[in-house]
Amino acid sequence: MSIERVGVIGAGQMGNGIAHVCALAGYDVILEDLNADALKRARTTIENNLNRQAARNIIAADSVPAALARIRTSQNLDDMADRDIVIEAATEEEAVKRRIYQDLCPRLPGTTMLATNTSSISVTRLAASTDRPEKFIGLHFMNPAPVMQLVEVIRGIATDDATYQAALEIVKRVGKTAAYAEDFPAFIVNRILMPMINEAVYTLYEGVGNVDAIDTAMRLGANHRMGPLQLADFIGLDTCLSVMQVLYEGLADSKYRPCPLLVKYVEAGWLGQKTGRGFYDYRGEHPVPTR
Ligand code: NAD
Repeated sequence: MSIERVGVIGAGQMGNGIAHVCALAGYDVILEDLNADALKRARTTIENNLNRQAARNIIAADSVPAALARIRTSQNLDDMADRDIVIEAATEEEAVKRRIYQDLCPRLPGTTMLATNTSSISVTRLAASTDRPEKFIGLHFMNPAPVMQLVEVIRGIATDDATYQAALEIVKRVGKTAAYAEDFPAFIVNRILMPMINEAVYTLYEGVGNVDAIDTAMRLGANHRMGPLQLADFIGLDTCLSVMQVLYEGLADSKYRPCPLLVKYVEAGWLGQKTGRGFYDYRGEHPVPTR
């Protein structure tokens, strides 16, 4: 299976990062989103991130215009018709993803592979909602995709060997390392990481520490690069909550109960960096804890 033309659906934090790394690796990329502003923001982000990598000598300066020229943006799923693979990186809601596959599949030739960047939803179940479960796979890039070295690769029950091998080849070509994870809720990284973040929110909720104390404690006491609440804001609190709900429902164990305070922040629309406010307020010059 030769992959040269990549489609990415969803131009949020992950979609723009995936488009970035694929274009740098020489793939022809179409980045699609319903939202014109998201596409505009994604282009600017990709350009800034490529320029930053060039300034730090991580990539050659002339690869910046070449990579940008390989990315087209679109608001029309019809443009996916000539893609060898479509990587879906839309909002972490099963109904949203299923709707996308329903609209997308009739537009694709039978040979096109489909991948999801879901952080937690069953790859087998998502695959079963498409017309090509054997060509469907989980390719879980980490945030930010241009920087993070790992991609979890998750086979659904029906995923065939050719699709799995093609997925490993993509991970290699974008210069990343694959870790194979079985298709259980939240796979490996988030199965371990999200309960820690959720526990940090409980620690805040119960008044054991404030935002600053919790993040300082974990940075300096556990040698983490970011505190758990800062990391939650970076990931997006809606995504964190969705992953906890998938763990709670999928494993039917009360230890995964999402913290009510996390629910409250999401209900307020305080989703972290992407909306300007979460456990920190990002609207001023420096982030200020909101608790
Ligand atoms: P985001 O909110 O930044 O972006 C989601 C994008 O999807 C938005 O631009 C939205 O307009 C678009 N979208 C929604 N419905 C759409 C549709 N029907 N068609 C086209 N576009 C649509 O979210 P994100 O953080 O980029 O997360 C995207 C996916 O990546 C999720 O499945 C998430 O679980 C996964 N993921 C997130 C992280 C993270 O740290 N944020 C890490 C790894 C994987």
